[in-house]
Amino acid sequence: MSHSLVLPRLIRTGSGALGQLPDLLAACGVSRPLVVTDATMVALGYLARLQQALDGAKIPSGLFDATEPEPTETSVIAAEAILRTGHDGQAFDGLVALGGGSAIDTAKALAVLGPHGGRMRDFKVPRLVDEPALPVIAVPTTAGTGSEATRVTVITDPENDEKMLCMGLAFMPVAAILDPDLTLSLPPRVTADTGIDALTHAIEAYVSRKASPFSDQQALAAMRLIAPNLRRAFHDGQDLPAREALLVGACFGGIAFSNASVALVHGMSRPIGAFFHVPHGLSNAMLLPAVTAWSIPAAPGRYAECARAMGLVGEGANDELANGVLLDELRALNVELGVPTPAGFGIQPDRWRQLRPLMAEQALASGSPGNNPRIPNTDEIIALYDEVWG
Ligand code: NAD
Repeated sequence: MSHSLVLPRLIRTGSGALGQLPDLLAACGVSRPLVVTDATMVALGYLARLQQALDGAKIPSGLFDATEPEPTETSVIAAEAILRTGHDGQAFDGLVALGGGSAIDTAKALAVLGPHGGRMRDFKVPRLVDEPALPVIAVPTTAGTGSEATRVTVITDPENDEKMLCMGLAFMPVAAILDPDLTLSLPPRVTADTGIDALTHAIEAYVSRKASPFSDQQALAAMRLIAPNLRRAFHDGQDLPAREALLVGACFGGIAFSNASVALVHGMSRPIGAFFHVPHGLSNAMLLPAVTAWSIPAAPGRYAECARAMGLVGEGANDELANGVLLDELRALNVELGVPTPAGFGIQPDRWRQLRPLMAEQALASGSPGNNPRIPNTDEIIALYDEVWG
């Protein structure tokens, strides 16, 4: 069986790495970027830092600073208007994304809409978008999605609330800057949600039916970095070594799932996010323990390896013990990081009940459940939604 591997061309990591943005732009042949970011990055002064680096190198740029969390196509269309206007009569020749997965995904969507036009639904799976696109340089400020190293973007269709999964080479950033200084300001809630998202990427990539020796190593490395550092960063946001480990781990997690796939947790999570506006990492966290328990019988050895990589049991522990400890840990992590149930989040029980069949249908249509070690049918997904409700 052969596997196709895709990565960004350049990755710079470490405290202060943001200052290297002009070098990266030059290396990627970008001389007039549109910067895509959000209001938080402006308020925190991160955009000013980035702008200083561009000004110091006399690189002209444009700005879209109205990215919305969990972006809908509506906000992408607003950004597209700026992209089309260009700068001083010249077209932008690349995008710099500064922010969490939402800013990076918005930039990736623009990278494709810019040259190709159309609507985002034209690019959703099962279509693979391997055509040329504008280069994206991604600067993640959350340690979660790994979007800086994935050939994926997720944009919500405002007409039906579907979180559309769009995949292909066109969505892979050409370069990424992993500067942990930019993650010190993450509030505990976002640290927890994004950290569990990254952990879920690693676990799902490792147990995926599309896993390869390459994605396995990335997934295991991600688990080794994320598991011991997530609680540390949650309780002490200024813990720079923990922040750096999470940022690098999240990038490994992104590489792992982008080259393998995500599975049932992500398939079930996207509809929860779209219908009930639950942040992506939080809906993953709500699902992770129950879906893992349901899936373990189909791949006990693989899940046990996750427990070992996370440092939960010694190398010599047998699979049964390791899997029990893994489930205990995922449940304990949710308690310690304050992950609510859907009911605790404030979702109305009637609406949850009524939407379960549609959510299950959308989950299956995304293709992600088909990569799970145990493949569910519609009724089994609905039963899992019931279990997660509590
Ligand atoms: P996000 O980008 O939506 O950010 C969450 C909140 O945290 C925002 O309000 C943001 O302004 C704020 N924030 C970001 N960085 C901060 C910092 N350093 N300090 C303080 N506040 C900060 O969250 P996310 O989880 O990174 O991204 C979620 C989106 O990514 C979802 O739409 C999800 O579907 C998508 N996603 C994409 C991929 C992919 O491969 N493309 C993978 C997983 C998830």
